[in-house]
Amino acid sequence: MEVKILSAKFDIEDSHKLEIAKQHGAYATIDKLFAMKPEEVIEEVKNSGLRGRGGAGFPAGVKWGFLPKGTGKPVYLAVNSDESEPATFKDRYILVKDPHMMIEGIIICSYAIGSHDTYIYIRGEYTSQVKALQAAIDEAYEAGYLGKTVAGHDFKLEVTVHRGAGAYVCGEETGLLESIEGKKGQPRAKPPFPAVSGLYGCPTIINNVQSIASLPFILEKGAEAYKAYGTEKSSGTHLFGISGHVEKPGMYELPLGLPLLEVVEKVAGGVWKGRKLKGVIPGGSSTPVLTPEEAKTVTLDYESMAEHKTMFGSGGIVVLDETVDMVKLVENLIYFYHHESCGQCTPCREGLGWMLKIIKKVVRGEGEMSDIDLLSELCDNIEMKTVCVLSAACTMPVRSYLTKFRHEFDAYVSEGASTAAANQE
Ligand code: SF4
Repeated sequence: MEVKILSAKFDIEDSHKLEIAKQHGAYATIDKLFAMKPEEVIEEVKNSGLRGRGGAGFPAGVKWGFLPKGTGKPVYLAVNSDESEPATFKDRYILVKDPHMMIEGIIICSYAIGSHDTYIYIRGEYTSQVKALQAAIDEAYEAGYLGKTVAGHDFKLEVTVHRGAGAYVCGEETGLLESIEGKKGQPRAKPPFPAVSGLYGCPTIINNVQSIASLPFILEKGAEAYKAYGTEKSSGTHLFGISGHVEKPGMYELPLGLPLLEVVEKVAGGVWKGRKLKGVIPGGSSTPVLTPEEAKTVTLDYESMAEHKTMFGSGGIVVLDETVDMVKLVENLIYFYHHESCGQCTPCREGLGWMLKIIKKVVRGEGEMSDIDLLSELCDNIEMKTVCVLSAACTMPVRSYLTKFRHEFDAYVSEGASTAAANQE
């Protein structure tokens, strides 16, 4: 089931070093790139069907096409390497194992969109990734792939690594831009969208690490070769981080469209310790949970996830076994998102705090049945009434647990905390 496109060099010793990466094909597309017109590159990426791998799944080539022409302003590329969504750990593999694949992708994207300045925004705590990435960038400058010319071609390209201070909300694209500009990482109201007015008020494209790293393959082999993997509307491969209660947790590159449960069984070794499956979080903590029944029919692509009223998200799959206490899971979830709220919208700042107080009361065994309904009501009143999607990143999954595992919440109220928790074990 596994394929090796993005992960082709991951098992090669010292693959992060330029010399080794070049022996295995790094920067092979550069001459082909500069023989093409930027519009042709955009067309090829559009034809490949590559969708943003940060979570939203918006077609990459289409996004590039939103840049206004002839503004006289510089165009910026920002690579989103914040990767703060719980259960997500794919981009950091690229940064450590094959950073030159991403740098090559930056060159391809920059040429296509006419940008000469890239900022790579990386979460501050990722020290080993920053080190590996900066070392690769230094090597690329020294070898002439970055700087005043790119591999001798008349194209200037500067790449700067910007370390954040560790805030989930800086993975939101406008929070990210504010942070690069040296301000508090608080998301902006949209429109205007970054393609029109982004970094320093200039047209800006923001792409995820994995999206950018997919470009060398698309340019080298062509859109059709990329589309040979995946489904019609969800093409290509994806790095899936599979964690939780499985025998073989890890990061696996798979074509899109595979049946979820088959992947859990055949790739990740199945639910651990011979236990039963209780649920699956399909794409990071912000995605609505799937019951075992739903998981039977879902496939790993954007469309199937939407049909099952959840989201593909970041590809961070969490398998939950029968012992998981969904009430405590929801407490943990609300705690996280409340902590990460930037505080500028009242429904998010106050509402998530209110939800946290309620769920804590329920977990203590002091809840009333009306508290569970109040939690649902708060979800409805917070969602999509804020500047960014952080609030929805909390309320969407919370609503799914309340709906699909309501009996567990009710048990905490009717049986008291200790009995309800003991019944989960
Ligand atoms: Fe900040 Fe929350 Fe509003 Fe987003 S929704 S801008 S995180 S307060």
